[in-house]
Amino acid sequence: MTRYGAKVHPIDLGYMGQTEAAGAFLVENEGTKCLVESGPSACLPNLLKGLHESKTQPEELTGLLLTHIHLDHAGASGHLTHEDCHAHVHPKGARHLIDPEKLNASAYRVFGASLDLELGTMEPNLPDRVREVMDGDSVTLGTMTFKAIETPGHARHHHAWMLDDGVHSHLFCGDAAGMRIPGTDFPTIPMVPPEFDRDDWLKSIDRIEATGVDSLWLTHFGKTTIKSGFLDAVRNELNAEVDFLTNMISDSETHLAEKHRAWHEKRAGAFGVSPELLSKYCRPGFYRANYDGILRWLSK
Ligand SMILES: [Zn+2]
Repeated sequence: MTRYGAKVHPIDLGYMGQTEAAGAFLVENEGTKCLVESGPSACLPNLLKGLHESKTQPEELTGLLLTHIHLDHAGASGHLTHEDCHAHVHPKGARHLIDPEKLNASAYRVFGASLDLELGTMEPNLPDRVREVMDGDSVTLGTMTFKAIETPGHARHHHAWMLDDGVHSHLFCGDAAGMRIPGTDFPTIPMVPPEFDRDDWLKSIDRIEATGVDSLWLTHFGKTTIKSGFLDAVRNELNAEVDFLTNMISDSETHLAEKHRAWHEKRAGAFGVSPELLSKYCRPGFYRANYDGILRWLSK
């Protein structure tokens, strides 16, 4: 008998009306189906369409693995969990899935009126449908076993999920391996407040590398590998942007958005990314959030 291993179907959620901006992953093996990430609730119709194209009904899902609880990763969770489909999440994130009021309120503070259009809010998950998973613990769904690898830096409650089916090994990285400008190898790093921590993040990248997995799956977006050197590029961009913004903070004490953007265009240009392409995926809010994230981290 031949074993083919698990199938991973990336679903492009059309986040912010863009291709390859954010995704969820339908993972399937020997009749068991589960989902890594729910995406934001504003993208639920696209998620359901993606499941349908893979001949999957939401009722068939046997688990929802969340890398963290930010609304672009877990916002639609409350629509997907059911009696036989629990959300699996870092212990520090669990209570926010059950009572998302604080999470929704802080998103409103950042996004204002555009929240509903861009992300949507989170509906609560019933308490008995949320499972806390500690670092190193496993979740078994049918013939698949996912291991939680605590990977803070972007958020304190971040797990990457490892699946080794004996044929091929996968790591679902969430935001811990950065994001990628589509069609290029240029990583962009979401250093958002209030939990961004550069030192934790670098250790998380080391943990990701140490798994030695065959495939890395980025929520923003798609597949890469350790062998490709992508993680080195993530380390470089992370350190470079922290250094650049640390200097800006000590020189001017205000966010010089144009200067930040021009600096980033140059970094991206070295990877063949045009300013037009960069501006589709890194909007003014991205630069502001990175500045605020580093400011907050430096103040700790
Ligand atoms: Zn994200």
